[in-house]
Amino acid sequence: DELISQIAAGEVVERPASVVRELVDNALDAGARQIQVKLMAGGVRSIVVEDDGCGIPAEQLPLALKRHATSKIASLTDLESVATMGFRGEALAAIASVSEMLLASRAEGAAHAHRIDARSGELQAAARARGTSVEVRELFFSTPARRKFLKTDATELAHCVEAVRRHALARPDVGFAIWHEGKLVDQWRAASSEQRLSDVLGADFITESRAFEHSAGPLAVSGRAGLPEAARSRADMQYVYVNGRYVRDKLIAHAVRSAYEDVLHGQRQPCYVLFIEIDPERVDVNVHPTKIEVRFRDGREVHQRVRHAFVDALASSRS
Ligand code: ADP
Ligand code: MG
Repeated sequence: DELISQIAAGEVVERPASVVRELVDNALDAGARQIQVKLMAGGVRSIVVEDDGCGIPAEQLPLALKRHATSKIASLTDLESVATMGFRGEALAAIASVSEMLLASRAEGAAHAHRIDARSGELQAAARARGTSVEVRELFFSTPARRKFLKTDATELAHCVEAVRRHALARPDVGFAIWHEGKLVDQWRAASSEQRLSDVLGADFITESRAFEHSAGPLAVSGRAGLPEAARSRADMQYVYVNGRYVRDKLIAHAVRSAYEDVLHGQRQPCYVLFIEIDPERVDVNVHPTKIEVRFRDGREVHQRVRHAFVDALASSRS
């Protein structure tokens, strides 16, 4: 089972940033309002994610670390309409198999917190307010071949910050802070969506982009299309979300690119933020273990709507 977990870890955990992404997903699923990410040596030495979410009851702590243990879906029909970021019950087990993991949590109404050491399974009393802290130390210490593929601490840190940035753009209602070696790297307080965009991408992005918002039937698209000025300092900053989940999708990228080609006659690396809200039954998020890929039931409609939204926004900037 240890080996199977390590193989699963290979699909879910590529580098410290993958751990950050999964832990922040869990914090958001737990209803956190404030999330702290604390890193040492680019996250390779340690990653701590603290939240003020619902917490995990003591008796469920050992279960949270088990493979395929998820509290989020109860049946296969739920899988057709997942609303949470997580649902596979894989991440904690996979991460624990390639690191030293400590989990501390206090559920609402519990007399105190509990902590569990993933390796020994030992459960102890601990002190903390409601919520959960997950500490991941010495990533890939037992799999030196994987550890060798990690880049410099500075590069790994940049990927970790980018992972938090992706979450922060989608959840302006949640406060985020990132620390490295005890120093505050970035902090975004809970704010309106526009304020969060400005905080994360820079105030000039707001003036150098055009907002759009279209909604019809089970599909709504909104966001901001960056003008050429925006791309100058932010080439390749492209954020696409489907039902709040950051995704990379060729179909969507193509739709956006063709809009930029039509209106601005080929802008190579446009900068944009796109939120797609769609009936969960019309999109499959269970395509890849990292959930970064999705499959639409009606890809053509999504393509058309995204393309139109960008053509509209960009064309209005020219008149
Ligand atoms: P998944 O998110 O797919 O359910 P994970 O392995 O990421 O699987 O987490 C396993 C379980 O541990 C979750 O279903 C949840 O019950 C619990 N859990 C993990 N992190 C947190 C957290 N920060 N707050 C509350 N519960 C958590
Ligand atoms: Mg999860």
